[in-house]
Amino acid sequence: MLKTLSKIALLVPALAAAAVWLIVLRLKSVPMPLLVPYGLLLAALPAGLLWPRVLGRRSTRRRVRAFPGIPAALGTLALYLAVVHHVTDLPVLLALAAVAALTWAAPAFLRARRAAGGRAAAQTRRAFLAGGAGLVLGVLSGLSPGWVERRRGQALARGERQRQQAVRAPGARRRIADGAVRVFPIHAGDTIVTYGQFYGGLDGWEGLNGYLRTLVDKAQIAVPVHAYLIDHPRHGLLMVDTGVNWEQAHDHDGYYDLTSRLLTERDEYRLSPGQDLRVRLARLGYDAGRIGTVFLTHVHDDHAGGLRSLPQAEVVLDRRDWDHGVLYPHSFDLVKENLSFPAFDSGAFGAFPAGQDHFGDGSVILLPTPGHSPGHMCVLLRMDGGSVLFVGDTLYTLPHLAVDQVRQMTIGGADTARQLEAARRIQALLAAEPATVPLFAHDNTRYHADRVVPAFAHGRPGKEGLRELRTHMEAVLTPGWRLRAGHAPRFVPPESGTGPGRVEFR
Ligand SMILES: [Zn+2]
Repeated sequence: MLKTLSKIALLVPALAAAAVWLIVLRLKSVPMPLLVPYGLLLAALPAGLLWPRVLGRRSTRRRVRAFPGIPAALGTLALYLAVVHHVTDLPVLLALAAVAALTWAAPAFLRARRAAGGRAAAQTRRAFLAGGAGLVLGVLSGLSPGWVERRRGQALARGERQRQQAVRAPGARRRIADGAVRVFPIHAGDTIVTYGQFYGGLDGWEGLNGYLRTLVDKAQIAVPVHAYLIDHPRHGLLMVDTGVNWEQAHDHDGYYDLTSRLLTERDEYRLSPGQDLRVRLARLGYDAGRIGTVFLTHVHDDHAGGLRSLPQAEVVLDRRDWDHGVLYPHSFDLVKENLSFPAFDSGAFGAFPAGQDHFGDGSVILLPTPGHSPGHMCVLLRMDGGSVLFVGDTLYTLPHLAVDQVRQMTIGGADTARQLEAARRIQALLAAEPATVPLFAHDNTRYHADRVVPAFAHGRPGKEGLRELRTHMEAVLTPGWRLRAGHAPRFVPPESGTGPGRVEFR
């Protein structure tokens, strides 16, 4: 009885560890037809080692070690190498192998000394071989960090060369300083997301249910990440969010630590050399080193990545987001001393119970919109002829303003309620200010590509340009915030069967 209990006490954590590993593999899009037989091997191994007979009457521990043991071990190694391994793991792996060889060799050596005759000689030889292998692996483990660093260094240098080329390509612009407020949308990379996470908030993508769905549903799309540069005659160069940086896209495994690496996909971000924030700013005639202030709508990594290119900037964000903790802190490494938290004590602003008049002259108003993250905020900027509202991730795209018809995945419970409340406040603000246009962080519709980009091509849409954007908005949405015909999103699978699909509106 006691023996059975202690065996169960061993089996449960073994199965739990296997389950966690299987979830990780699924998060990293390992296909189900591969995961199911592999999962069965993983479950059969500990059960068979503890109760050999469950795998058949003639089964013994020795046989279990051969099957399912060997295929399970080989499968684990292959999957690790295929989806988790990164060059920075090499020293650790070599060290582990060295320790394993040495721990096998030491007792084998002692046993050989006690044995007699020919058997002793054979055992001694094997113990020496294993010990020797352990020492060699140990030395290689000590030497490998230098090699690993060189490999990474070469990759980073290649990125730097591509950036320099992109900066020097013909067609760069020059900054115009004529006293006007200018806004430049910057397409700073793409992120691969599950379609349901982006558009499925009303189809069950909410809270825990939503997270579980991301394990099963691999219908993915690539969506743009938009950051915004503001050239302000009184307040200098400002940014709203900063997009993705080069390392996140091209050195993903080196940028993120092991845990983050296990939980995210390698191709989560894409960034061409021309989309690098430093390149984009240079092409527009600006120097990244002159950006004075970044308003960060929230701390998520597709908004904070570019901070690594702006180490001198003051970073303004809602304290609640920072206190809640940053999942991937590397993006903040260079600006940790420059953070500034608004007090939100400038009084109510329209439907918003609190706001922050950041410069005290009404030019930039920060509006708390918690929900997507605990301290998410939107930014309202006054321009000639109207205003722009940087919506961040409270609403991903223009159709998301029809929040009762198109909704992104929400965290669930009170957070979902807060996010809806924030969405309705944004609707109220846009309704109250007919010369205010929303600018989104991930709009993948014609609104951004065909309307926002040309309207802001020179940074200054003027009254006319802003009115045209509102006209487009009214062609998509009714005054009651319902979608007009032709604008409901639908997932279109990839033609080739692999890679992300696309979104069609109809
Ligand atoms: Zn985002």
